[in-house]
Parts: sequence; structure tokens; C-alpha cells
Amino acid sequence: SIVLYGATPLGRDFAPRLMIPLNTGLTADAIDLGYDEDGVFYQTTPAYGGKILARIVILEKRPQMATVHPKMWAPLDPNPEAKGEIVKETVNVSADDAYVVVSCLPDENAEVNLAECETIVSGGRGLKSQDDLALLEELAGLVNGEISSSRPLVDNGWLPHSRQIGQSGATVTPKLMFNIGVSGSVQYVLGMQKAGCIVAVNTTPDAPIYDYAHYGVVADYRKFIPALIEELKARKA
Ligand code: FAD
Repeated sequence: SIVLYGATPLGRDFAPRLMIPLNTGLTADAIDLGYDEDGVFYQTTPAYGGKILARIVILEKRPQMATVHPKMWAPLDPNPEAKGEIVKETVNVSADDAYVVVSCLPDENAEVNLAECETIVSGGRGLKSQDDLALLEELAGLVNGEISSSRPLVDNGWLPHSRQIGQSGATVTPKLMFNIGVSGSVQYVLGMQKAGCIVAVNTTPDAPIYDYAHYGVVADYRKFIPALIEELKARKA
């Protein structure tokens, strides 16, 4: 009745290909799944650039399909009582159906796997210049972290896409995450809301990022981050 795919490059490629022969629909990048009061399965996804959250239900077609961001939910504990019949299917793929891998090259920009990082220092459009990334790097160095960013900095070419957090970037679950000059758009928050401890530094007191932050600092990062760096250095010494 329900088929879920990872919203990964493979899942995003595979799911729409199955949608056509199955003659059903597909919700892309679901951020929430559940059953409504009538027991109907729904999938929630951002629409109109994140201005609304659309709740999609599929009443007539089966299976109901969605791609879902990796790490959106913590896995359930194994249930040793669960029983089920394992059906093994054999699929024969002919050479005509396959594609040929001509060569595999490492992605030179993908020097970091943010999903594995325990501490992340992330910068947003509030950063006044590319040079200010050095401040974030210095802070990250002191807390054994990596730097990341929201999409505008990647669009500007300041950082490679492998450093982008969010719906069209990485989903991360670090123990500690700094968000500096990031407003907290739906698309960004999707990628980091499960972080253990979230710190937000922003000049706008009602920026949405504070709704997710455990520690909110209303300040210009150009004053706050150097002060924090100085304090961390003093404590390390
Ligand atoms: P802004 O929203 O411009 O926020 C900048 C913040 O900096 C403001 O809150 C401001 O108060 C603060 N600021 C300014 N000056 C200072 C200062 N001196 N000190 C401290 N704070 C300061 N975005 C992503 O990030 N990741 C995605 O994966 C992603 N995918 C998208 C997919 C789609 C289909 C669409 C339509 C959009 C997507 N976006 C994504 C873009 C997203 O909608 C936002 O535009 C983006 O996240 C905004 O980034 P930001 O918070 O850095 O910038």
C-alpha cells in the first residue's frame, strides 16, 4: 500500500521511473508522514518555495509513494516479536535494460561527509563577505568541527555543494551545531532540525531559526564570534 524511497540521488532517480509503470503518484521530499483522523495516510512537503506545507493524500491510486529525506526519523528499536513471510523475488535484467558505467571518478569537491560530523559551524547569507568564512573555520577548528552553509553561500560559489545543509543539500544530526547569519527557512531547517544542541547567532530577534535553537544569541556575528573564539582559546590555554 505504501512504498517509501530515500530522497537520495538513487531514490530520486528510481522512484519516478517506477511511478509511470505503476500508474500512481509520488510525493517528492516528504518531511512528515502520518495518518489523519480518518486513518488516511498523508505526506507533507514544502510547496511554493517553502511558504506553505502541503499535506498530500492519495485516495484512489496504490501504492502511495514518497521520497523521504535520510535521517528524518530515528530508526525504531528492533522488535524481536515481529513475524512476517519473506518473499524472495528473482529479477532478470537483460543487457538491453542496463546502462554501462564508463568510469567512476571521485568528486573532488566532496571532501567532507557532513552527515558523519559531530560538530558543525554553519554560515548563512548574513555573512558579509567570503573572507568571513575564515572566522567560521577558526571557530570550527576550536570545537573540532566542520563548516557548512545554507544555500545562498553555495549559489555564490563560496563553498562547494557538499557543504550545503537542507532540502537540496545534506541532512545532518551533529551533537552541536552553530548557525550564524542563517534565518531558518523551511528548506534549511529540514536538514538540521534533529541536531542535538542548536546555537543560533542572528541580528533579527524573531528569526525563525530561534524556534529550533537551544541557545539563541541576538548579535552581529562580527562581534560575537571573535569574542567566542577568544574565550575558547583562553579556556583551552
Ligand atoms: P537569509 O534568509 O537571507 O537569512 C540571513 C540571515 O542573516 C537573516 O536572518 C539576518 O537577520 C541574518 N543576519 C544578517 N546580518 C547579520 C549579522 N551581521 N550577524 C548575524 N546575523 C545576520 N536553502 C538552504 O539553505 N538549503 C537548501 O537545501 C535549500 N533548498 C531549497 C529548495 C527549494 C526548492 C527552494 C525553493 C529553496 C531552497 N533553499 C534552500 C533556499 C531557502 O528557501 C532560503 O532562501 C535559504 O535557506 C536562506 O538562506 P539564509 O538563511 O542563509 O539567508
